[in-house]
Amino acid sequence: MSPVVDLWRLPGYIRAMSTLGVASTTTAPSTVRVPLWIDGKTVASTGRRFGEVTNAATGQVVRTVPFANADDVDNAVKAAVAAFPAWRATTPLRRARILARFRELMELHQKEIAALISEEHGKVFLDAVGSVQRGIEVVEFAVGAPHLLKGEHAESVGREVDAHSRLQPLGVCAGITPFNFPAMVPMWMFPMALACGNTFILKPSEKDPSASVRMAELLKEAGLPDGVLNIVHGDKEAVDAILSHPDIKAVSFVGSTPVAKYIYATAAANGKRVQALGGAKNHAVVLPDADLDFAAEALIGAGYGSAGERCMAISAVVAVGDAAEPLVAMLAEKAGRLKIGPGTAEGMDMGPLVTAAHLDKVRGYIDAGVRQGARLVVDGRGLAVAGHERGFFLGPTLFDHVTPEMTIYKDEIFGPVLVVLRAETLDEAIALVNRNPYGNGTALFTSSGGAARRFEDEIEVGMVGINVPIPVPMAFFSFGGWKQSLFGDLHVHGMEGICFYTRTKAITSRWPRRDAASSGLVMPTLG
Ligand code: NAD
Repeated sequence: MSPVVDLWRLPGYIRAMSTLGVASTTTAPSTVRVPLWIDGKTVASTGRRFGEVTNAATGQVVRTVPFANADDVDNAVKAAVAAFPAWRATTPLRRARILARFRELMELHQKEIAALISEEHGKVFLDAVGSVQRGIEVVEFAVGAPHLLKGEHAESVGREVDAHSRLQPLGVCAGITPFNFPAMVPMWMFPMALACGNTFILKPSEKDPSASVRMAELLKEAGLPDGVLNIVHGDKEAVDAILSHPDIKAVSFVGSTPVAKYIYATAAANGKRVQALGGAKNHAVVLPDADLDFAAEALIGAGYGSAGERCMAISAVVAVGDAAEPLVAMLAEKAGRLKIGPGTAEGMDMGPLVTAAHLDKVRGYIDAGVRQGARLVVDGRGLAVAGHERGFFLGPTLFDHVTPEMTIYKDEIFGPVLVVLRAETLDEAIALVNRNPYGNGTALFTSSGGAARRFEDEIEVGMVGINVPIPVPMAFFSFGGWKQSLFGDLHVHGMEGICFYTRTKAITSRWPRRDAASSGLVMPTLG
């Protein structure tokens, strides 16, 4: 493992390199490579494959990223295995203090990390700042680990017999994360795993890997011992090496449904604990008694924020009864007012999509919607952003009269495309949402407490908002969908996160008084 020149995140240098046309996928100059992070240092990959990391607003390659092979993953796991005994023996309070220092450093560097996200992912800077904040909140929760790891105790479960449980770490855990939240989603995982006494291997998205490495540097600065957190980049090859590595005990995954299914099946077959969060098609049901202007404003943010590249984005609106006509008119008017441009420019509402390939895919869905007979109310395909002609921009797009058979309804588009379906009644709307194979998030807009209560009870979705368009649970609750949106038993962070990253040992102890009678050979009744 040879060290890489540590210039990977200096923006001026990077810009200079990118204007020199450094865009090769095979021969990456070491100076602009995003490094792996193993045993507390930046290291080069032993492999020879590289991916390109683009500035989504300009289309230029700004960094290259080495795709780890099985040897790189093995090196990372060896470092994590070696670090585990001392980290496990570090008291929960000391582990929490390191995380508390990391939290302070994350706040200090929040804007710097958000700038990396905005550059590589494309999302608007303030949105990126907000996403880092939501990750910091998980660190705040994880700092409470000394309390959360207390286990249970019951005295006198039998005569002179007490019982208690210990929550112990699993060992080396791994996380594989998607492109759309390059800091927040990794922070759903590693702070929780580390607080519980595990060591960790993170495989962030190869499309925007820089935020992860920066967070690893800050954790080291906060006092994290070398080897406790390691980062490998790459694609399926790196992931497969994680899934088959005998020393990795648990895998957390967040990404698309087909990959989530694969991760769940493969990691479980290899004897690992798995939580695999998948894709989504989130519906907002709007009843005629809702404040329609408020609902439309909320839906614009939920549909087009982060260019629709949020797993909790609203992508399908079910307009009930008389709500439909005025709601579609309001959505069209508000969508037309959005400011679209580079995420780093001030005052923008929406930035570009993450890559050229993703832009093509989303455009293809809009074409399909038109072909299949949906009414295209707002068409984002013609958008041109002056000075950024090679950026991956697409304007907000709105379809009305969409039916459940259409591809734009059936598939997760993951772009700024909002589709409106119509239903006659709340019953019909609930049935429609429940028939959808995904079950990540949903929202109801209404002024009726009775309707809200029914919706909350009957809807088959993991996270529900009432007049809240994106009901992302706070860090002290757990985050996770139902049906094809999650494979596994436990959601991320909150108490379910603690359960995922620990295993319970139940201890029954007896300290008999010297004069107590022997229990003999008969199975005790503990009374
Ligand atoms: P993705 O599934 O393409 O990639 C996710 C991760 O898996 C990446 O690290 C990637 O390198 C790796 N990967 C990709 N293809 C693989 C393969 N064939 N085998 C093994 N590993 C592979 O997802 P994405 O495009 O990065 O992210 C968008 C998706 O993530 C959307 O579907 C979105 O809904 C979902 N997402 C879900 C949640 C949630 O909480 N449920 C949160 C964020 C994103």
